[in-house]
Amino acid sequence: MSKDNSSIHEFDLNLICEYFSHLERQGPGSPEVTTKALSFIEDLSENAKIADLGCGTGGQTMILAQHTPGQISGLDLFPTFIDLFNKNAEELNLQERVKGLVGSMDQLPFQPEELDLIWSEGAIYNIGFERGLREWKKFLKPGGYVAVSEASWFTGERPQEIHDFWMDAYPGIDTIPNKVAQMQQAGYLPVASFILPDNCWIEHFYMLQTKAQKVFLKKHAGNKTAEGFVANQRREKKLYNKYKDFYGYVFYIGKKI
Ligand code: SAM
Repeated sequence: MSKDNSSIHEFDLNLICEYFSHLERQGPGSPEVTTKALSFIEDLSENAKIADLGCGTGGQTMILAQHTPGQISGLDLFPTFIDLFNKNAEELNLQERVKGLVGSMDQLPFQPEELDLIWSEGAIYNIGFERGLREWKKFLKPGGYVAVSEASWFTGERPQEIHDFWMDAYPGIDTIPNKVAQMQQAGYLPVASFILPDNCWIEHFYMLQTKAQKVFLKKHAGNKTAEGFVANQRREKKLYNKYKDFYGYVFYIGKKI
């Protein structure tokens, strides 16, 4: 990649980061869903070690921390998100137990069998569901848990328009039984899976973006990259409203065998 291209790329990422920094969360989810997923996980003590991979600014991590004992490391690729994450932890007086680290989910900074729980909401797609489950397993203690939310098809067939959208965005999307089978093949006992209700997308994600989009477009008036990015977000929202019977996010919880 030429120097010019790499600086354009960096600029795009900075813009995307800035856009999402203004949101409470960077993907669909809700406090109710985080606590529901947590209800399937047993035996977390004060000494438990938990990692939240692709934590963003920590919307779900802080909920996790308020409902579990133990130490939580949030890990994200973007330093801006981790700065906000650590500020959020301090504001909630959780800084002794909750720490944000800059890093990548494909090179985890943990010891083998160090973790009791690996959490990841709407982020495992960055390395792929199967690869993430397989690679992360060695960091879990025997009997440790993984809990991830992931885009999934609800039906065996679907309209071409939404099929094409997802094949372009994330070809790893699959049906719920196929994802559960992948979890089992990766060496976990599939403990539970459940569909995130649509308020996770509408109230906790898309509605919060409406105001953020206005502020962002005003600040970057005339910037084609910023305008294109917002147009894309709006298109995704329209597609969700049109096709939400065919896809959504599903939480998958597994126990290392
Ligand atoms: N878990 C948060 C939530 O539900 O609000 C954020 C979800 S957001 C859709 C995906 C996150 O993954 C972003 O914060 C992004 O920076 C992070 N990410 C992308 N690639 C990553 C990588 N290789 N390692 C760690 N984090 C990554």
